[in-house]
Amino acid sequence: MFDVAVIGAGPAGTAAAFDLLSKGLSVLVLDKYEFPRKKACAGGITPKGYHLFRYDISCVVKRECRIVKINPPNKKSFFLKAEKALCYMTKREELDLFSLNKVIEKGGHFKVIKKIQSINETPFYVEIHTGTEHFKASYLIGADGANSIVRRFAARPVFLQKQFAIEADVKTDRPETHKMEFDFSKIKNGYYWVFPKDDHVNIGIYSVGSHGKLKIQQLYEFAKKRHLSGRLEAVKGYPICTGGFNYRSDSKRILLAGDAAGLAERLLGEGIFFAVKSGQEAALSILESRDNKIEARDLYIKKLKEVRSDLKFYNLASKWFYRFPGPSLKALSFPFIHKRFVNGLAEGKAMARILYNKVPVKKDI
Ligand SMILES: Cc1cc2nc3c(=O)[nH]c(=O)nc-3n(C[C@H](O)[C@H](O)[C@H](O)COP(=O)(O)OP(=O)(O)OC[C@H]3O[C@@H](n4cnc5c(N)ncnc54)[C@H](O)[C@@H]3O)c2cc1C
Repeated sequence: MFDVAVIGAGPAGTAAAFDLLSKGLSVLVLDKYEFPRKKACAGGITPKGYHLFRYDISCVVKRECRIVKINPPNKKSFFLKAEKALCYMTKREELDLFSLNKVIEKGGHFKVIKKIQSINETPFYVEIHTGTEHFKASYLIGADGANSIVRRFAARPVFLQKQFAIEADVKTDRPETHKMEFDFSKIKNGYYWVFPKDDHVNIGIYSVGSHGKLKIQQLYEFAKKRHLSGRLEAVKGYPICTGGFNYRSDSKRILLAGDAAGLAERLLGEGIFFAVKSGQEAALSILESRDNKIEARDLYIKKLKEVRSDLKFYNLASKWFYRFPGPSLKALSFPFIHKRFVNGLAEGKAMARILYNKVPVKKDI
């Protein structure tokens, strides 16, 4: 029997596994794919997420973006500029393989499973049945993303909202000439992005409340307008789960982290920071519950308080922003707000923290 089983080896799962292993617990990580595997994600990591990793991920960073081009609806473009990086560009297949290898180096066991048939929770352990095998652990962390299967066994999904995004890679001769770009002028309730990588740019569309309505054709048209002549490769779409500020666990031994718990933000669809953060908090809750008489689940909900209030803020901000994108973006172009925003972002502050001017505390394990 393992101390903890983690289902899903994305940012949430590997962050949780790494911290548990650092404290000497035995950890089994299960995923439905061999790694490296493709994952629909533009791989942009904001400074607050970048500095949260317990190990240096600079070797998988393709670009550090210090300039962001913003295209508001019906207005001239403007730039956000900072001296430090505003976003770190990674490729998810590389980032996730790198993190999984860190987990394996620490002594984590990794296994590929075809399917989760059932999950049974007893007062003392959790059992995972895959049809051909079964695994036992004292706790289970469900980090299996937006379409989580573990969620069905562990929480009422009433808290969930699903957004949607589509992306593609386009080879270009000089990706460095492309700035990181958010274009709010061509779609309602969302934006197109251009993220420069090493030998290509990643382009995509994010739109709130758009499930099933976004079409690949829209990406082709966007690429054409941007004079991106290369073929669209690795075209993928996937949901992003938000609404996790209402996440409650019905289970004592199963905790959800990352998109499985709806812990991505609704404004721009950023999820890597929240996945890593919640994975780390889930690990810490399990570790602390072993020394105290408090349930890991109750500790976890307490530890998520700051994340959940951030997500609530993003949720409200997204409703305001997509109703009035022009005036909201105009405010961002004013020098005082611009300076405060880019400095806060570069220093790793969450949106609400930028407004309230509190510095986030980095916790070491
Ligand atoms: C097109 C697109 C672009 C995005 N761009 C960005 C971005 O630039 N920056 C950002 O911060 N966020 C971005 N996001 C959001 C981000 O990808 C997610 O929020 C983040 O990946 C969530 O991490 P996670 O660890 O919770 O889940 P995931 O990264 O989804 O990982 C889940 C893991 O669980 C595994 N799994 C799933 N089901 C099972 C199963 N039944 N059994 C076993 N294993 C299973 C999967 O194989 C996967 O490895 C984007 C999302 C999309 C769709």
